[in-house]
Amino acid sequence: MKACLLRSVAPVESNPLVYTDTVTPKPRRGEVLVRVRACAVCRTDLHVIEGELPPRKSPLIPGHQVVGTVAELGEGAHRFRSGARVGVAWLHHTDQVCEYCRRGMENLCDQPAFTGYTVDGGYAEYAVAPEEWIYAIPESFHDHQAAPLLCAGIIGFRSLRLSEIKPGGKLGLYGFGAAAHLAIQVARHWGIEVYAATRDQRHQQLALELGAVWAGGTTAEPPVKLDSAIIFAPAGEIVPAALKALRKGGVLALGGIHMSTIPPLDYNLLYQERVVRSVANNTREDGTEFLRIAAEVPVQTQVQVYPLREANRALNSLKNDAIRGAAVLDCT
Ligand SMILES: [Zn+2]
Ligand SMILES: [Zn+2]
Repeated sequence: MKACLLRSVAPVESNPLVYTDTVTPKPRRGEVLVRVRACAVCRTDLHVIEGELPPRKSPLIPGHQVVGTVAELGEGAHRFRSGARVGVAWLHHTDQVCEYCRRGMENLCDQPAFTGYTVDGGYAEYAVAPEEWIYAIPESFHDHQAAPLLCAGIIGFRSLRLSEIKPGGKLGLYGFGAAAHLAIQVARHWGIEVYAATRDQRHQQLALELGAVWAGGTTAEPPVKLDSAIIFAPAGEIVPAALKALRKGGVLALGGIHMSTIPPLDYNLLYQERVVRSVANNTREDGTEFLRIAAEVPVQTQVQVYPLREANRALNSLKNDAIRGAAVLDCT
């Protein structure tokens, strides 16, 4: 099969992914082989490829927002029929035995496997995943539109949940890439007022088009106090600005897997029972619930599509804030 291989971590400007032939994987017991049709590009892929996350496998096929059809069933796999359209997300599987898995917090598993990081992912024509960890994709979504739902969408949704925003509340979104452009649509559906703070003017414009009541720069102060805020940008220096915008008792959720150092905080920014919390991975319940809501809204995914062989170009565009919505690789 064709795939984009990462042999050693490097800045994406050096075009580190090599488009080449490699062995098609075989589904093991309980796994399915997926013929990949589309794989969306996530900021986490940048962190993996550039080494901000420590390398865990080499060579590696990145990509964890995979949409495709079931091409082959491994022994004992029966949840999906051959040809069914499915999605593979970041959490490839967990051990199911650690204290977190047993307590319903599988997203915090001690021994997790991550798609496109610790196991091969979807920048390829084929990928394998355990049937218990893949998702049925609602029919209403085209392959390209569905792919960004698998991480940007699900993590955005979990971030909304953990931000404790309520219907009718005021929510700040810091950074307006793939995750925020989906989260805002769910938030608007729930009757939430959204304030978008992002450095790129094109992204501010997109936020306004998607129903934000205000858009400004990352450290600009929104015109009202916010009940909750989510930071999707990987920049720790935004934390004090976001805390400053929160009302007393407000919650700030950090949606990224990697963030630059958070500067020293004046305790007054945190005092009055403000909360800062991170968001790590997702449970299967988050994924199933989000896909149901995404179809109900219905969420409109804005995508820029690149052929699989041009993954390096897509990653460079993402790094340069040049993607409106989400970048998606066409793997057909
Ligand atoms: Zn576990
Ligand atoms: Zn992701």
